[in-house]
Amino acid sequence: MAQNIMCPQCGASVPEGSQFCKACGAQVIAPQTIVKEKVVVADTKSVLLAVILASTFGPLGLLYCSILGAIIMFVFSLVIFIITFGYGGFLVWPLCSIWAFFATRSYNQKLYRKAQASV
Ligand SMILES: [Zn+2]
Repeated sequence: MAQNIMCPQCGASVPEGSQFCKACGAQVIAPQTIVKEKVVVADTKSVLLAVILASTFGPLGLLYCSILGAIIMFVFSLVIFIITFGYGGFLVWPLCSIWAFFATRSYNQKLYRKAQASV
């Protein structure tokens, strides 16, 4: 016997396996599908994009992979600018790129480990 599931839009009872709700026409997703997606979806970040952003925008580009890193590098670059009267500014950008590379890599590794643990 087919089980009924609830329409997420209007709450009407919909026979399991049907794609759309007969009452309101909303798309109905079976509970099993939702569980499967949770396991599969691992939102990794692109290391290449992180490095390109950091080498283009400096500390601002770091926001993509590490908010804490962006704040630290922003303060760091400000200090470098003051100490060297702006001449040390060129040092900040390569440093940001290196930070972005390692921050994104460790972020992805953590994500993979979490995904493997949940399987
Ligand atoms: Zn409905």
